[in-house]
Amino acid sequence: MNTLTLKPGKEKSLLRRHPWIYATAVARVDGNPASGATVVVRAADGRFLARAAFSPVSAIRARVWTFNENEPVDHAFFKRRVSAALAYREEMVHDTGATRLLFGEADGLPGLIVDRYQSAPGQPQTDQLVCQFMAAGVEAWKDAITKALVGATGCPNVYERSDAAVREREGLPSITGVLAGAEPPEAPELLTTHENGVKYYVDVRNGHKTGFYVDQRDNRRLVQQQAKGRDVLNCFCYTGGFSLAALAGGAQSVLSIDSSGEALAIGARNVELNGFDAARAEWRDADVFKTLRALREEGRTFDMIVLDPPKFAPSAHHVDRAARAYKDINMAGFRLLRPGGQLLTYSCSGAIDADLFQKIVAGAAVDAGVDARILRRLSAGMDHPMLTQFPEGEYLKGLWLQRM
Ligand code: SAH
Repeated sequence: MNTLTLKPGKEKSLLRRHPWIYATAVARVDGNPASGATVVVRAADGRFLARAAFSPVSAIRARVWTFNENEPVDHAFFKRRVSAALAYREEMVHDTGATRLLFGEADGLPGLIVDRYQSAPGQPQTDQLVCQFMAAGVEAWKDAITKALVGATGCPNVYERSDAAVREREGLPSITGVLAGAEPPEAPELLTTHENGVKYYVDVRNGHKTGFYVDQRDNRRLVQQQAKGRDVLNCFCYTGGFSLAALAGGAQSVLSIDSSGEALAIGARNVELNGFDAARAEWRDADVFKTLRALREEGRTFDMIVLDPPKFAPSAHHVDRAARAYKDINMAGFRLLRPGGQLLTYSCSGAIDADLFQKIVAGAAVDAGVDARILRRLSAGMDHPMLTQFPEGEYLKGLWLQRM
């Protein structure tokens, strides 16, 4: 039997139900587990702690499937986890065609992300699952998981986007392709989905992640509710998630900036898809850091600014440099804000927690010479729950601020 025995004292985090086992905590591996194979995890005294997926090259040497000694890891296990994840979304997540069905550790399947895209009524029919298998365990059980997904959702189409950089740390190659059903359309043909009454194109083959940033749904609704009559600046706009929300909410103008020409082109098509007046939307293919400075020199100001940058801190080593980058854009954002104007600012760096992010933004306000107040702390939607014992799951945090 494949067994992983921990060093004395290293069982503590598992007893607190943290689902990761670091390589540095492992005393011994018995048997010869392949990548993704199930191992029994034991404390130094031989006590059963968990069943976990073995990852031979990763610093996270194993990820827990179950703390229950009587629960085997088999096809039925994956069916149960997938069904539970789906039932939770059906109960809690509404008014959207773009849903995160599986959010890794929070759904008991470490390393697995699955988003579902369904079309708006009246659009050509879409029902597409897009998966990212980011750890050795879910990689090894890919077929069982795909079957469980198709069975539970009734969605026949499953596409894989396992081309994230983290796969390398698991010793896994980059893979994309069809796992079940039909090929998703090839650009310029795109799937459509909807959220908060707004329609969006999604490029599941070539877009970022699974094609759409599902996590910002609630925050885009907030922008939609607040945008009426306002001049809005949306930085790091991607395919215009927040831009379309602002237009739907009656913004007077929306200037959207991103360095991806492909994403911007989809953004402009989204305006058309919704039948909004294209004259209200301006798209700039540019670097946000430079553009924020240029806008200041042009004397431009805005009523509402969204800053939703990519992950500046991919790991704890990058925190200092990332902090400077966050401060930089937030300072520039505050300076472009009219008195009474609103700033919605985000960080999706797991290595920067909510308190540190708030400190960085507070420092940015001081250095910009503006007084600001926090209207609300923001996070990802209900389809991105967090385990109490796994703070690593909290990656997206935001602040809704007002310049005084
Ligand atoms: N807010 C978006 C998601 C943003 S993802 C939504 O709701 O859909 C981050 C985006 O930042 C990506 O589209 C990426 O192309 C863009 N980006 C990264 N670095 C950039 C830079 N220096 N200047 C402009 N855009 C950048």
